[in-house]
Amino acid sequence: MASRGRVLVADDSAVTRALVRAELEAAGYDVVEAVDGEHALELAADGELTVVLLDVEMPGLDGFATLTRLKAEPATADIPVVFLTGRDDTSDVVEALRLGAQDYVRKPPQPAELLARVSAAAQVTHLRDQLQRRTDELARQSRTDHLTALYNRRHLEEHFDALLSSSRRHRYPLGVLLIDVDHFKKVNDTAGHAAGDQVLVQLSQCLSGVRRTEDVLGRWGGEEFVLLCPFTDLAGLEIVAERLRAAVEAQPRLTSGGALHVTVSIGGAVLTEPGPQRARDTILRRADSNLYAAKSAGRNRWVVTPV
Ligand code: GH3
Ligand code: MG
Ligand code: MG
Ligand code: MG
Repeated sequence: MASRGRVLVADDSAVTRALVRAELEAAGYDVVEAVDGEHALELAADGELTVVLLDVEMPGLDGFATLTRLKAEPATADIPVVFLTGRDDTSDVVEALRLGAQDYVRKPPQPAELLARVSAAAQVTHLRDQLQRRTDELARQSRTDHLTALYNRRHLEEHFDALLSSSRRHRYPLGVLLIDVDHFKKVNDTAGHAAGDQVLVQLSQCLSGVRRTEDVLGRWGGEEFVLLCPFTDLAGLEIVAERLRAAVEAQPRLTSGGALHVTVSIGGAVLTEPGPQRARDTILRRADSNLYAAKSAGRNRWVVTPV
């Protein structure tokens, strides 16, 4: 059976801990035990917990102080805490809820009630985790090109700006390559748009395979790709450009419309360091005019200059 979650039971009473453990384990939870507040904080800090069950009266750090410390740490602030409290103590309950407890269970805990309250608290964690996963996925999608799974233009622009300011601060050269497929309109016209898409996907894989791990590759739009190359001077960028050009030329692309030989032209610009400050658009305009020069000179070649 898959675990329903990991519950920390913090209580100085061995009898209560054993009783709670038996009930929770029988219901499918993993249980860890703490004998006091300090111990509970230690275990909470290094374990992924679904729920914390916290006794009020414990030697040293009591339940309230432990709760306050849990809520103060970002890593543990969101774990739902269920208090274990004395039968007649309403003021304990009020104070625990005020400090951010999720719920409480009267001692001695009745099995059905204990399970119902722990299950409700665990649901809070599960829903929060699910929401976090969805948020992460949406964030990933907003930075990803749907067709090629490379970074999209939005991410490239943001990353470019981050690299620009970091290259200025830490004084390293920064290169950018604009890679454009040659006569791509002809690919679509002769083999069809679907084959054109296949070519774009295969090119993205080819480019991705030859780039260095520290370089960031993305689809700028249409049949254009961008490679951002931190710590790369003019000589370095020329080597990268030639490696990409040659890799694309070396292999035919296998599509539903047959094997297609495609080539790319590349325009590059290098921001040298030390050198003049340049805006992102200025650097890209230079790369673009160099790309145009490469096209005019016959395609399947690169032109790279400092900016
Ligand atoms: P050049 O060598 O001068 O770059 O010629 P080109 O034909 O590549 O240039 P142009 O910019 O005229 O054409 C680009 C073509 O890319 C036109 C457009 O239909 C095609 N294209 C853009 N995005 C996509 C896409 O996502 N899928 C497919 N199949 N084609 C696309
Ligand atoms: Mg106690
Ligand atoms: Mg183009
Ligand atoms: Mg083109």
